[in-house]
Amino acid sequence: MTLAGKTAVITGSTSGIGLGIAQELARSGANVVLNSYTNDDSDHQLAEEISKETGTAARFISADLSKGDAARGLIEQAGACDILINNAGVQHVAPIDEFPVEKWDFIISLMLNSVFHTTAAALPMMRKAGWGRVINISSAHGLTASPYKSAYVAAKHGVVGMTKVVALETAQEPITANAICPGYVMTPLVESQIPATMEKYGMDRDTVIKEVMLERQPSKEFATVAELGGTAVFLCSDAAKQITGTTISVDGGWTAL
Ligand code: NAD
Repeated sequence: MTLAGKTAVITGSTSGIGLGIAQELARSGANVVLNSYTNDDSDHQLAEEISKETGTAARFISADLSKGDAARGLIEQAGACDILINNAGVQHVAPIDEFPVEKWDFIISLMLNSVFHTTAAALPMMRKAGWGRVINISSAHGLTASPYKSAYVAAKHGVVGMTKVVALETAQEPITANAICPGYVMTPLVESQIPATMEKYGMDRDTVIKEVMLERQPSKEFATVAELGGTAVFLCSDAAKQITGTTISVDGGWTAL
């Protein structure tokens, strides 16, 4: 299976899951567009490294996706978008009555509104190309909830609903739309929390991972960014062309509980 000649735009892809998906898509032959709100030399270097490793065209485009015009501008600047991976996201934890209004607005703008804007800009390109894949990175929190994560859970549930609408609007075209719902994934963000948690609870690394971080993940293992990348590559394959409007959980059994 090869994605040669396809262009993939992966939002929020200078780190973690987005970067892992970009690497796996490039390894399958896709040209990739990386994105973040930053515009550092290291962002452009990541794209160069992917090009060097895979021989595909990779580039970085800076855009703050919490702004609708910038989200649409990212797709327009990319010039082509056969595969759209809506991945950029952040977290904020607070009880609803103390949740800062500006944090709520930012999270909904970045994690829900941007999916509307990038999809609206990308669908005409997919239709013109006669092929397309929309893959939204939701979460186990797109299917179930936890306290204190109101904006994140609302945005991730919203993304699942949006995925279904895109699938219905494109059902008779060679375009699919699906959401991947990861449980806990080992990203630099998660890794960096381990030492402090070990210190806080006086536990070793293994116990912190199994008893604290992965308390709700029955497998007691993190998913990896390469596994998420593999799931995205599968959704781009011919074998997945009748899979549309659904969610694929990569959560070690979390949502089976
Ligand atoms: P991460 O922090 O490693 O990466 C987030 C990326 O988004 C970075 O590249 C960052 O620069 C970018 N970003 C942040 N704000 C942005 C903005 N305003 N505009 C453009 N880009 C922006 O996070 P991650 O753990 O890889 O998470 C990626 C996605 O996966 C998120 O949507 C997250 O909710 C989801 N997710 C993560 C986990 C997990 O355990 N790590 C689990 C389920 C879902």
